Order: sequence, then structure tokens, then C-alpha cells
Amino acid sequence: MSFAFVCLGTGCPVATPERMGPAHLVLANDTKILIDCGSGVTQRLVQAGTRGADCDALIITHYHSDHVIDFWQLIVSSWHQGRAKPWRVIATAPAIAHLQKQIDSFADEVALRIAHEHRPSTDGLKIEFEELRYGSLAFAGVNAMAFEVDHRPVAPAFGLVFETAGRKLVFSGDTAPCDTLSHAAQNADLLVQEVFVDREMQPTPGVRSAETVASVKAYHTTPTQAARLAQEAKVGALMLTHIVPPAADRAALLREIRVGFSGPALVGEDLMRFDLVNRIVTSGSTTVAL
Ligand SMILES: [Zn+2]
Ligand SMILES: [Zn+2]
Repeated sequence: MSFAFVCLGTGCPVATPERMGPAHLVLANDTKILIDCGSGVTQRLVQAGTRGADCDALIITHYHSDHVIDFWQLIVSSWHQGRAKPWRVIATAPAIAHLQKQIDSFADEVALRIAHEHRPSTDGLKIEFEELRYGSLAFAGVNAMAFEVDHRPVAPAFGLVFETAGRKLVFSGDTAPCDTLSHAAQNADLLVQEVFVDREMQPTPGVRSAETVASVKAYHTTPTQAARLAQEAKVGALMLTHIVPPAADRAALLREIRVGFSGPALVGEDLMRFDLVNRIVTSGSTTVAL
């Protein structure tokens, strides 16, 4: 049995070379499930030792541009890698409507490619959409379910639970603290939690007003809130991702987490891999057993 979680992109819309846009990968036995397709996802998949061509499904947690921006890049790149099977894309209804527009916007270009390049199959360009709703998701090798979170005014937005090999992984999605996430996170072996480092997000002339800060903070989770959630849910480990701002001071962030959460806490990094079966974390040349 194998069960691992890989951060592909731990950033947000703010561009930084270290943190690509939101994208994460669940590796459960022989099943590869991609969560969101933020900027740089195709490159990070290759760096992680896999390819878009090999993914079994793509889940889009909600319709925010940073989570869907590389969708067509993923499709075309995977086709060029030799993908010869349709994509299973499980997304919220507003996200599906948007992704269809991405597909339509390149219809003329892809028709030229198909006619000119004579690749062995066009099946990799086919997209089979399923609406993401509350409830279980059918995958081989892993039990999965989606639960609604509070990312209003963006709705619906979902968090995810994956269970196999006697381990439970909970992915918060983008959300403010909410009862559904607290409930889902109970006794998770790993909680992957988005974070908005409010201490580092001060009003900045020309960039963000006090009103901007308050509005963005209202649909995300602060370090203090994340720590409280992890502690109350008795999670085995907390991994932070969707780091806003992406250049947040890691040690300072963990000091804030430590005030409220006594378990193992990690600031997620692009290409960090968490092996849930063995509780081993690999990031760059560092490997740690928790
Ligand atoms: Zn986001
Ligand atoms: Zn969002």
C-alpha cells in the first residue's frame, strides 16, 4: 500500500519563483489525482517525477483563476507527452463553465495542430466533466469525498478527504474556518491547510487597501485559526500551503502555529512529499521521519 501527498504549487496569485500557483497531487496506490491546476503545474509534475499524461483525474476545488489558469496548458502538454485517454475532470459548476471557455478559445488552434501534427491519438484532448458536489468520489485505490467549505463569495468551494492504507488525508481547499472543515479534519493523519499570514499582509499604497486586506482575510484562514483547527481536530500533522504572501517568513509562521498547535507542523514547499504510510517527509535533499 502506498499513500503520499505532493505539493506541486504552494503559492497564490502573487508571482514568485519558489512557489507556483495552487496545485497538489494525491498518490494513492496506483491512482494519481491532481488537485487544481495553478500556474506552473505541468512543469512541477515533471519535476515531481510524473506527468500530466499519467494523471487519472483532475479535481478543481473552486472557480478562482489561480486554481484553473494552467488548465489548457495541462491538456496540451499532456497530449504532447503521449496521453491517449480522455481526462476525467471533476469541478464545480462555475469552474466547468470556465474550463469549457478555455477549451472553446483554443478550438481553432487545436484543430490546426491535430490536422498538421498527425499524433497517434486525439483521445488525450477529450475532457469528461463531472460536477463536484458534496459526497463520495469514485476512485480506484482510495476512498474520497468532497465537503463544502466557506470561501464566499466564491461558491461552491470544496475541501477533500482521502482515505486508504488506514490513513486519512484532509485537504482544506481555499476557505475561512468553518464547521464542515473542522468536522472533516477530526483525527486526520495529515491536514493540508491553506493559510493567510495576516501579520505580513498589511495595507500597502497602490497594492492593497485596508479594505482589500480585510476582504481577502475574510475568506481565508489565519495562522492562529489554522493552529486552533489542527489542535481541536487532533490531527497527526499539519502542512500549510496556499501561502499568502508566498514569501512569508517560515520560522515566524511556525512560531505562530506552535502557540496553538502542539503536533508536527510543516510549511509546505513546492515538491515537498509527505508519505502518509511511513510518516516520512521529503523536501529537496532533506528527508525527515515524523
Ligand atoms: Zn486560491
Ligand atoms: Zn480561492
